Amino acid sequence: MDCKFLNATVVTQNERREVIANGGVAVKDGRIVAVGPSAEIERAWPELPAVDAAGKAVMPGLVNGHTHVLLLVLRGTVEDMGADAIYGYMTPISFAMTDDERQALALLGCLEALRSGTATLVEPFRHVVNYAGAMAETGMRLWFSESCADALTLKIRRGIYEFDPAWGETFLERERALIEKFHGTHDGRVRCQVAAHAPDNCSPWMLRKLNDLREKYGLRRTVHMAQSKGEVAQVQRYAGCTPAQYLERNDWLGPDVVGAHWTYCSDDDVALLAKHGVHMAHCPANSSRRGPHTAPVAKILDAGVNVALGTDNMTEDMFQAMKIGSIIHRGSYGGGTNPQPQALLDAATRNGALSLGALDQIGSIEPGKKADLTVIDLDDPCMVPRINLASNIVHYGHPGMVESVMVDGEFLMRERKVLCLDEKDVVRNAQAASGAAWRRLHEKNPDLPLPEALRGA
Ligand SMILES: [Zn+2]
Repeated sequence: MDCKFLNATVVTQNERREVIANGGVAVKDGRIVAVGPSAEIERAWPELPAVDAAGKAVMPGLVNGHTHVLLLVLRGTVEDMGADAIYGYMTPISFAMTDDERQALALLGCLEALRSGTATLVEPFRHVVNYAGAMAETGMRLWFSESCADALTLKIRRGIYEFDPAWGETFLERERALIEKFHGTHDGRVRCQVAAHAPDNCSPWMLRKLNDLREKYGLRRTVHMAQSKGEVAQVQRYAGCTPAQYLERNDWLGPDVVGAHWTYCSDDDVALLAKHGVHMAHCPANSSRRGPHTAPVAKILDAGVNVALGTDNMTEDMFQAMKIGSIIHRGSYGGGTNPQPQALLDAATRNGALSLGALDQIGSIEPGKKADLTVIDLDDPCMVPRINLASNIVHYGHPGMVESVMVDGEFLMRERKVLCLDEKDVVRNAQAASGAAWRRLHEKNPDLPLPEALRGA
């Protein structure tokens, strides 16, 4: 919708991190066409309908640099279990779900993301082509990929690592279908990456095949990396090196690569990844459920790595990611006040855009960029007193203060109403789909117990 936001506090996140008090933003044909003092915008764009944003801040739509919306199905379970969540539950349930269940959870993810001010989701997962359409219809900005593996991932929870090219080929087939169907569609709002699931479950053959796809379609890449001790041990057994070294040997490091997690990276790994210009998708909130995330963040930041933020699993709330990220990052420096809140706000906006190679399109409010905007309510109690806005947002911000979200110049949520989804339907469907998926998971894998609350239901 063409419009002009007036009387707003505009958090531009431009190179100078300008915050314009009593500012305005003009939006036309899906793009930001002007940013400046409210009175100037009002004068220069008389034909645009006005949106009064008094008492509100307009900021760039948040960029969730790494998530798996389907894993909301596990919310409230694996966070509190001792089991290997990745191969023990996340992988098996992703195969056990029906396409209807996948779509139900995917829409729940979009709903939660929008309610928490997110405009862009980066979704590497399995069977993505089967639910990408439902997500694309919401109007959100999306980066999809099929998280490929050629190790028989369903066997790994039993300690068995076995490569099978036929299994790997099923992932590649889904990735090709995803690219053909979705890459560059919806006016470029939906794009694809190539994704290797992780170094322990991708053989050199798989990594090569993915590089071929990357070349053929001109895509960027993403991979989970050094996420678990099990992964590090397996790569050591299999290839005699660290996950980062393994990726380097197989031509899988570069400035087009986003690595998620880096939890068990050595100092040498960090230096290697920084040298290759690899971006980090840091998921501090999710990764800290069982104790503070131990990635060497201080070393990573000091090495000049671009750190984007993601939510990873069981939540789409980027305010949690900023808040817990701030705590984790400062903890990594041994306490203190470094980094400052602005760095976390950058990670959730500009850095995420940069990790996608899209900082020229999104991540800040500047003329010429896509109109991906989030409006927050400055009258929310957590925003008062307002002495340093970035500090309030990072330390105390929450989804409840998100008022509107616009993507490509279209309001997907306006004045607290989500316009692109029937909220009640979405939550009811996701609740029903989750119960059904859990029951099927248990039927197919009797060694995975059904949560108490779902027994007999
Ligand atoms: Zn992940």
